[in-house]
Amino acid sequence: MSHVARMDLGGVSVDVICDAVADHPRPLADAFPGAPAAGWEAVREQFPQTVGADGRWRFGTHVLLVRTDAACVLVDAGVGPAGSAAAGWLQVAGTLDEDLGALGLTPEDVDLVVLTHLHQDHVGWLVAPGTGRPRFARARHVVSGAEWASVQGDARPAHVRDTLGPVEAAGQLDVDGSLVAGMRLLPLPGHTPGHAGVLVEGDQRRLLFGGDAFNHPLQLADPGVPSLADRDRAQAIATRRELLARAESLTVLGAHLPGAFWPGHG
Ligand SMILES: [Zn+2]
Repeated sequence: MSHVARMDLGGVSVDVICDAVADHPRPLADAFPGAPAAGWEAVREQFPQTVGADGRWRFGTHVLLVRTDAACVLVDAGVGPAGSAAAGWLQVAGTLDEDLGALGLTPEDVDLVVLTHLHQDHVGWLVAPGTGRPRFARARHVVSGAEWASVQGDARPAHVRDTLGPVEAAGQLDVDGSLVAGMRLLPLPGHTPGHAGVLVEGDQRRLLFGGDAFNHPLQLADPGVPSLADRDRAQAIATRRELLARAESLTVLGAHLPGAFWPGHG
C-alpha cells in the first residue's frame, strides 16, 4: 500500500498513489545529462531520496485517482504487475491493484483512464494478465492525438501493442477524447511528441499532474537539465520553462517527483 496523499479540491477528491519505487538502471548523472549548476554532490545531498543503489536514480511512479460527482478517473497506469514491460525493466512490480482495493475500489469502478504519454511505466496496468483484455473493463481510455500518432506503424513499441492494443480492440480507446467536467489535457510536449499534463479543477483549488515534464526536483531550479528519456530535449526544456512561469497559481505534481509533489506546493 502506498497511498501518498488525498486532496480535496472542492467537490473533487484526488488520491495520489505510488505504484512502485525503483532504481533506474543508470546513475543519476546519466539519467539527467548535463551537470546542474550546483554540481551533482549538492543535488545528492539536497535530494537524498532520489539516490539509489550505486548512485542510480531512485524514483517513484505515481498515478492519480480523481473522483468527481460524475466519474472515477485514473490518471496514468503505472509500472504494472509482475510480467509487465516496466516491471521487467525496473525489476519491481507495482502495487496499484492493492492500492485501489484499499480505497474500496475494483477495476470496474474506473470510468475513465487518462494517459499522459505512452512510455512503459505509464501504461503498465492497462491489461489484465492472462486475459488479453482491458483491466479497466468499463473505462474509456484517453490519450492525446499527437501521442497516439507518434506510435503508429513501425514506430509502435511492443509494450504499446501489448497494452493499448487490447484497449483499442475492445473499442475503449478514445484518442483526443474529452475528459470529464473539471478535467482536461494540457499539451506539455518534449518528453514525448504528444506528452500532456492533466488539469483538475475543483470549486476551491486546481492542480496539474505534469506527468514526466519534470522528472527530478533539480529541474525546477534548473529546467535546462534534460532527462535522458526526453525525446526532444529543446522542446522539453521550453515546456519546463513555460510551466515554471505559470506554476504560481497551480499545485503541480509529477509522476516521478519525490512524493509526487512540486516542492513547496501541495
Ligand atoms: Zn515516466
